[in-house]
This record gives sequence, C-alpha cells and structure tokens, in this order.
Amino acid sequence: MTDRRNLFHKVWELHSVRTLESGQTQLFIGLHLIHEVTSPQAFAMLRDRNLKVAYPDRTFATVDHIVPTDLQLRPFQDTLAEEMMSAIEKNCRDFGVTLFNLNDKRQGVVHIVGPEQGLTQPGMTVACGDSHTSTHGAFGAIAFGIGTSQVADVLATQTLAMARPKVRRIEVTGKLRPGVFAKDVILHIIRKLGVQGGVGYAYEYAGEVFDRMSMEERMTVCNMSIEGGARCGYVNPDQTTVDYIRGRPFAPQGAEFDRAASWWLSLASGPDADFDDRVSFAGEEIEPTVTWGINPAQAIGISELLPEVARFPADDQKGIREAYDYMSLSENTPIKGTKIDVAFIGSCTNGRISDLREAAQVARGKHVAPDVKALVVPGSQLVREQAMREGLDKIFEAAGFQWREAGCSMCLAMNPDKLQGREVCASSSNRNFKGRQGSPTGRTLLMSPAMVAAAAIAGQVTDVREMV
Ligand code: SF4
Repeated sequence: MTDRRNLFHKVWELHSVRTLESGQTQLFIGLHLIHEVTSPQAFAMLRDRNLKVAYPDRTFATVDHIVPTDLQLRPFQDTLAEEMMSAIEKNCRDFGVTLFNLNDKRQGVVHIVGPEQGLTQPGMTVACGDSHTSTHGAFGAIAFGIGTSQVADVLATQTLAMARPKVRRIEVTGKLRPGVFAKDVILHIIRKLGVQGGVGYAYEYAGEVFDRMSMEERMTVCNMSIEGGARCGYVNPDQTTVDYIRGRPFAPQGAEFDRAASWWLSLASGPDADFDDRVSFAGEEIEPTVTWGINPAQAIGISELLPEVARFPADDQKGIREAYDYMSLSENTPIKGTKIDVAFIGSCTNGRISDLREAAQVARGKHVAPDVKALVVPGSQLVREQAMREGLDKIFEAAGFQWREAGCSMCLAMNPDKLQGREVCASSSNRNFKGRQGSPTGRTLLMSPAMVAAAAIAGQVTDVREMV
C-alpha cells in the first residue's frame, strides 16, 4: 500500500507519547540543546520542585549568546554575563549535563555545534530554548524553538505538549544563478510568503535547488523558517545528509551507522506524500536579496527599486511607512548604494565554514572601506580552527576585517558586540527587527555572507556579482 505520510507525519507519530485532554500531543524529544540565556530559570524550576533532569544523556549545553568574542577572560566585565556563565556551569555540574564550555573546542553557537558533533540526526525531535532551532530540520529532524517554561518541561520529562502543525511543501525548481546563495533563497521565500505566511505550518523544502545544496546551505534555509512564521522547517534526508553525519563524534559508528542510515533514508516523504499546501518557486528567478525594512519579508533583489507604499494592501501601508522612516529609506529608490557603517559575518544562519569561504573569496586582495567596521565571527571553535587551517583569517585580516572568537556576537548583541546609535549594519544574521543588534535605533540589512563582504569593501550595499 502507498505510504502517503510525509516525513513530518512519520517523525511526529514515532515520537507521540499520547494525546492530551487539550487535544495536544505529548511528544518525546530526542535531543535537548540548552544555552546560558534561557536555561537558568528552567533549572531553578527543577530545583524548586526537587526534580532531576530526566535524560541528561540527551541534553547538551553550550555557551554562545553572552560570550565576548574578543577578550574572553573570566570573570567577564559584564556581571550579568558572568552570572549566566557561572549558573550554566553549576547547573550542568549539578544535573549531570555535558557542557561545551569556552575551554572546550566543541563550544560555539548552539545550532552550529549540534550538527557539527553529530548530535542532530534524521528522524529526531529536537528542542532548544532559541527560536532558530529550526536549523536542525536540515537533517530531516523536526526541531522546535521553545520558551523557558518548556525548557523546564523538557528537562524534567523529556517531552513537550504540542499541537501538530499542517505541512506546506515549498519547492524551488531549476538552478540558482552564480552569486545567489542559500540565504537569498530563504529571504526570497519569506518575502513571497510573508512573515505570517507560515503560521500553523511546518515547511518541507524540496526540489532540485535543495537537493543540490550542501548540508550547510540547507541549515541556512531551515534556520530562517521561523522568520517566515513556520513552526519548523526541514529537508528530507538523502545521501548528502548521510555523508555529512558519517564519522562525527556522536553519530552511530560501524554497522550501526549503516543500519541508522538506511532507516534515516526511509523517513523521507515519498512521491505520493500528502501535504496541506504546496508552493513552487523558480531558482533562476532569485537574485542576491537584501532586506530594506524591519522584518525579514521586507526584502528585494539587489537590482530592484524599493517598493511603492501604494502597492501594498491598505492595512499594511502604515507598517511599510514605519519601516521606511526607521530605516531612513524611500520608495522607488535602489537599495544598491545604501551606505553602511558596520559589516557582520557570523551567526547560526551564516557562521559556518562554507559561509566564511564564500566571504573570503570576495575579500581576498581587497580592503574594507574607510569608516566601516567589519567583523568575522566563526560560529564555533571548530569552524574557527578550520578557517585558520585554510588561511581565511589571514585573508580577512589583510582586508581589514576583525577576526573574532566563536559566539553569537552581533546577531543579538547580548555581549559587547553592538551597533552604536543609528549605525547601518550589513549582516549575515537572521533578524532585522528594530534594536536587534544592540542599539535601539540601529539599522540592519540582512544578506548573504558574500554580499556582506562586498558591502564591507564598497562601503555600501553592492551586487556581489560585480565584485568577484
Ligand atoms: S546566532 Fe543569533 S539567532 Fe543564532 S542562537 Fe545566537 S542569538 Fe540566536
């Protein structure tokens, strides 16, 4: 008989413990990733109720959000950051949880270290107290960002109460043009479907463009599913997935790996799988894409003019004007040529080795424009080491970029890396909300790492295809 279930349905069913009175499902969580910001209150809740961590061997901690990326000497100058560090160290010690601390090469941004260590595997359910947990869906896992009280639920019971979302299949056909990257693909999808478009859905990304992507590129796409309103996003596991996981420290080894791999591949949505909705885009139509506003759907192709307010539905026009006012941009003008003050390459969206390679290719032999501060922040210590083995640090430093230690850095600016005043930042991160990068009036333009490198060199938003 034909199996009409898609991957999401299969994984959900395999992890369902029971249906609750509320109609929600109690879902078993295969992997729980924690970090220093959303875990202290959750551990406090456990202590209050005299509870243990139910599955310490399925719980892994790292430090990323608040760690400085220049001087990492302890105690940190920021006392709140130091308190959070001490808290996660004590909590992991007391509750028997493995911590990838600053003195451990495995440390880095939570959504980079999980896959890097082989912790994230197809068919898993993954939870983490961070919105961009959807990243792990790149492996054919279903991965949810959760709040602090849910972190406590997962620590205590290894389960979550959740309503099952619908599933939308998003196909991108054909091929990407040169200079167009995974970041452009997801910005294009969010632009077309809107920041609310995915509410109530899980997104399945399928089609030739995703089939051809590396795991790192798939992670970039899945990472931003949440920015399109989706509860999570995933790509079906294939040989690319299996090859990426093979040999990683927490992956199954030997014959066990082969058995696991054939099971992983069997989870993929079949050709007859049912979906609640389907949309399709042509890869050839996607340009290097840049955000101009205060949410990730407010984006355009680099050669386009900023959209006219009158072309938006009447209900949206007030918000569009607000975005233009905040960003000091105007309709019918090009985004290309917008002056920048800061360039940030990093984050769980684009802080992987392939991102640094793409940016270094643009930066090689050139120099950052005068008055632009440019930062390269590897997503993990292992990414940093790999980049240094390849000499990428030297390329960036010769071009005038600052080469930093691993962390979230200017993505969220809960650490010393912050915008000042009205600075404009070309950023490879995932959110351009007002104040996101540490200054209440700072302005963020999201784009691919290659486009950030090009903007850093030109001192303004530019088309990377004209620079390499
Ligand atoms: S890089 Fe940004 S989005 Fe990713 S985990 Fe850190 S703060 Fe969150």
